[in-house]
Amino acid sequence: MIQVYKFGGASVKDANGIKNIINIITKAKSKLVVVVSAMGKTTNAFESLLDAFFSENTEEVNKILQTIYDKHNHIITELFGEKDPFIYDFNQCFNTLRQRLEKRPSLNYDFEYDQIVSFGEIFSTKIVSAYANLIAVENTWVDVREVLKTDENYRDAGVNWNLTSEFMKAQFSFNTTSVYFTQGFIGSTINNISTTLGREGSDYTGAVIAHILNANALTIWKDVPGVLNADPRWYEKAVLLPEISYSEAIELSYYGAQVIHPKTLKPLQNKSIPLYVRSFIDSDKEGSVIQNSEVNTTNLPVFILKKNQIFITVSPKDFSFILEDNLSDIFHIFSEHKVKINLMQNSALNFSVCVNEGRTITALLEALSADFIVRYNTGVELLTIRSYNDEVIEELTFGKEIIDSQLSRKTARFVIKELN
Ligand code: ADP
Ligand code: ASP
Ligand code: MG
Repeated sequence: MIQVYKFGGASVKDANGIKNIINIITKAKSKLVVVVSAMGKTTNAFESLLDAFFSENTEEVNKILQTIYDKHNHIITELFGEKDPFIYDFNQCFNTLRQRLEKRPSLNYDFEYDQIVSFGEIFSTKIVSAYANLIAVENTWVDVREVLKTDENYRDAGVNWNLTSEFMKAQFSFNTTSVYFTQGFIGSTINNISTTLGREGSDYTGAVIAHILNANALTIWKDVPGVLNADPRWYEKAVLLPEISYSEAIELSYYGAQVIHPKTLKPLQNKSIPLYVRSFIDSDKEGSVIQNSEVNTTNLPVFILKKNQIFITVSPKDFSFILEDNLSDIFHIFSEHKVKINLMQNSALNFSVCVNEGRTITALLEALSADFIVRYNTGVELLTIRSYNDEVIEELTFGKEIIDSQLSRKTARFVIKELN
């Protein structure tokens, strides 16, 4: 029996977190591939580092770099003491990052992003694997970039399934170990240049490995009891969904339920591999299972709130309507700027979308403005309600201005803004 476990940033944010996940691993009664994310909010710190690097602000680069180093070093000292040879290994690895930042950046932001941000998962997995070995939980550390091969679409790389399958089957053979530690989120091109699979992509890595190894299950360990009917950070009354079908889970993650990365489910569904979402805090509890099932155990309304959205409306400057040729131009501009559309709506004269706020939006708006009149509303939220009823719509939109709404049989969606 083979299982794949995935631990996110929150589970390895400090020394106790690492001890806890190793405790969970020791209780597994099967061969394991363990996928680990960067520690805590390291990827966010790396994104700030990259911005400083790109604006050639050396002082800021050094400041952020030091913060990242201190955070890791603090955890290492707590786990290994001050004299363990691992500290030397880690410092060497950190110096590779320092040296990279001493050079000037190329003009390709996405490429530089992947080269730098990928260090986050390398650091975390090195620490976790070395600590597990130190306390006699024998394991093998694998640099996933040697086996997870992708195209060159930096920051949103697509998996080369044929090569990855061949390399992973050879690497994860379990001939000499029963536990492998490896990274989520990162991969590499056939030329061994680092790539990333998109933010929060470690869940997807877990699914790719589970699919290729025909694993019995993938378990994603979270700081929540499982998949709930809303994010408990904004909806206090959220309750656990013990069983969900693949297709419902795909819908939920597509609409933005942050708990599972949208690409995760397909590779599992294709081989009927169940996905367990469980709490690393209450690791004895069962959590949620996502698997083949005709009905969901519950028809409870499920709420998904995407914050920090912009609602953009474009209309043609000339006398044309919103027709296929215009739409094709518009989509092309979005795709070129790598801006994902979370909701869209059109009328004869207007085409509207809701997208995440972010660094490429200014350039996107500029590009759209060449041929279209562009209006936009910042600071809006996108609320999706699956299995809605009038009562929950009333409850969740109370005190909000509804800027746009869409209702289908199963799903209600609202672009909303706080009433001033
Ligand atoms: P990881 O560390 O594994 O990457 P994430 O932070 O990406 O974890 O996901 C876990 C978080 O997802 C939870 O802390 C919770 O606030 C949020 N979340 C959003 N929607 C849901 C939901 N429907 N059920 C459970 N958690 C949710
Ligand atoms: N560390 C990456 C991120 O924060 C990948 C992941 O955690 O899934 O986006
Ligand atoms: Mg995540």
